[in-house]
Amino acid sequence: MKTGNAAYELADRLAERERAAGIARVQSQLSGSSGRLVCDCGETISEARRRAVPNTTKCIDCAMFEERQRRRA
Ligand SMILES: [Zn+2]
Repeated sequence: MKTGNAAYELADRLAERERAAGIARVQSQLSGSSGRLVCDCGETISEARRRAVPNTTKCIDCAMFEERQRRRA
């Protein structure tokens, strides 16, 4: 009988997400296209957004979050 199965499953899922984000990041760097395909948070940066904001490195959520922080400062 295994114990802590839920914890293992959660850790597995988190690791899987990290891995997927890491792979996408490497692929976007290898592609050499302008801007990145994936934000640091793991969110995909849409093509429309990359076209609107060339060389952006952030997804819309992170960009908006940063903008809010800037305004508050
Ligand atoms: Zn992001």
